[in-house]
Amino acid sequence: MAEKRDYYEVLGISKSASNDEIKKAYRKLAKQYHPDMNPGNKEAETKFKEVNEAYSVLSDEQKRTNYDRFGHAAFDGSAGAGFGGFDGFGFGGLDDLFETFMGGFGGRTRTKRNGPQRGNDLQYALQISFEEAAFGAEKEISISRLQNCSVCNGSGAKPGTSAETCKHCQGTGQVRYTQSTAFGQFVNVKTCDACRGEGKIITQPCESCRGKGRISKNSRISINIPAGIDEGQTISLRGEGEPGLRGGPSGDLYVTIHIRPHSVFKREGYDVVCDVPISFAQAALGAEIDIPTLDGLLKYNIPEGTQTGTVFKLKGKGIKHLRSGIRGDEYIRVNVEVPVKMPQKQKELLRQFAEASGDEGLEQKKGFFKKMKDIFKE
Ligand SMILES: [Zn+2]
Ligand SMILES: [Zn+2]
Repeated sequence: MAEKRDYYEVLGISKSASNDEIKKAYRKLAKQYHPDMNPGNKEAETKFKEVNEAYSVLSDEQKRTNYDRFGHAAFDGSAGAGFGGFDGFGFGGLDDLFETFMGGFGGRTRTKRNGPQRGNDLQYALQISFEEAAFGAEKEISISRLQNCSVCNGSGAKPGTSAETCKHCQGTGQVRYTQSTAFGQFVNVKTCDACRGEGKIITQPCESCRGKGRISKNSRISINIPAGIDEGQTISLRGEGEPGLRGGPSGDLYVTIHIRPHSVFKREGYDVVCDVPISFAQAALGAEIDIPTLDGLLKYNIPEGTQTGTVFKLKGKGIKHLRSGIRGDEYIRVNVEVPVKMPQKQKELLRQFAEASGDEGLEQKKGFFKKMKDIFKE
């Protein structure tokens, strides 16, 4: 493939050309090279494609910015991809021919681009706290989304003016062209290049939205977070996406929930797990300890002789099920802490305790030494 020409050069305009200048240059050249005007002229056909490609990029603000910065590399060989109907021009290719043939007389029809079109869906990632997920919450988010321009009521035309019906396609947004193939003549339909399928051409664009009919605005939306929602779940808000085109419905807004980890609780489904440290004396003698729950601190009696790692279950202290509303449970795992630094007096008492008790009452230890004997006996 020959090296691509600079899009500005193709349209014969300067790099600082305004939208109007681009449009004007495009219209002139599109007319000049249009296949209808140049039947069978391969060179005109190539030029026509080139002009359309250049226009599809330079007339789109985002694409133009990318092109200005990165040149053709910005589109990585697929510059025509965003331009509806461009590939409808694949004269001659065998696949194309076959498809045309299989499509029967009248050839391929493209999706009408001037009918109602649904607005884009939007996505939002929302961080909430552990408690908000457990009990539900009302949150407000701010998103930037397109809205119909209030100045032109979304028409894109300057107030007092209106868009003109495209002369090229008589407002249908599509043009028909005849294709000669080995199987005979076929009539193909493709998106009108002059109005890009809109059926209308805005000659005096609204200044507020620059003819786009829509502008990006920040909107605050309140979101009801149901109790029990879990990490990664999505809340969908119908119709809170971007507005549709030409009377089409609005898209939806999808809010994906991310839960910040809690300093004390871990979540397992609808249950809550919590590690609680207790002292050796509390474990040995039993004690009333404070236990954190989602509803606040709770007094809990641990029995004497509690081993480290023992798990206690608190029924109904977990997280509400999303649907049934029934709460899961909380599991308390106690860890017996061995003191790291002990005052002399306590050490002395503990020594006396050790001498007095020996292995007495240490069931696990006795069992362990019995197993040792079994393993190493001759
Ligand atoms: Zn406007
Ligand atoms: Zn048209």
